[in-house]
Amino acid sequence: MSVGFEIGRVYNRRNDIHARFGGQQQGGIITPKDYPLVIIITGEEGLQHGYADRLRSDGVFEYFGEGQVGDMQLIGGNKAVAEHSASGESLLLFRKTATGLRFEGEMICDTFHYERSPDRQGNERNAIIFELRPLEAISEIVDEQGAPANADLTSLLAKALTAAAAPPKMGSGTPRNVYERSRDVRDYVLARAGTNCEGCHSLAPFTRKDGSPYLEPHHIRRLSDGGPDHPAFVIALCPNCHRRVHAGADGDTYNAMLLTCMASIQPKS
Ligand SMILES: [Zn+2]
Repeated sequence: MSVGFEIGRVYNRRNDIHARFGGQQQGGIITPKDYPLVIIITGEEGLQHGYADRLRSDGVFEYFGEGQVGDMQLIGGNKAVAEHSASGESLLLFRKTATGLRFEGEMICDTFHYERSPDRQGNERNAIIFELRPLEAISEIVDEQGAPANADLTSLLAKALTAAAAPPKMGSGTPRNVYERSRDVRDYVLARAGTNCEGCHSLAPFTRKDGSPYLEPHHIRRLSDGGPDHPAFVIALCPNCHRRVHAGADGDTYNAMLLTCMASIQPKS
């Protein structure tokens, strides 16, 4: 899906977001009902109502959940952020500026943790801190390897579904990180496709150096490819079909057709 937001450009919340997609007019998390989008807004400087979004030195952007008074709950917008991968939804980050909302890019929710932090009334409470990574930092592993050889499709699917599910909160086991989860989804989708493009059914045009057929995972409902996503929304395409989706005059229509095909390739359970 193409929504046309450019990184670094400033948009108007009412005209560019609500007029096009609907969604809640108040608050920092917007979840349009009819679009696979979760839009989050970070403050100009943070530290308002106890919110202190920040960029960590390891590249993770820490985003405070919603809920101004009392403990934050994993419901509503917070749940939408935590589960955006499992729901096949794009997570879009905007930053408030003096002139509007600057688009920072598409993110992936890696995990989240709780932190003691004052609420709007100055009382200590548990805040939910989402740990987000830019999707473009995760998209680079795509071409190097094919699906694991001799892999069992059932166990690959189980791993892919776990990878797409909402990340467990920190401290409950050792969840695979977002790169590993991204690879789990990709391994399964490539193994599922085998030798042929799932769009046009042509044989993969060449093999990788490791001998596997060259196909590319395409995220049908996302703005950009890469990252963990529900396997029902990821299709393995030949380079031709993949370019057609992203650059073709009929790209959006072709993409919508691919989404329809997924109902038989991989029904959403
Ligand atoms: Zn194809």
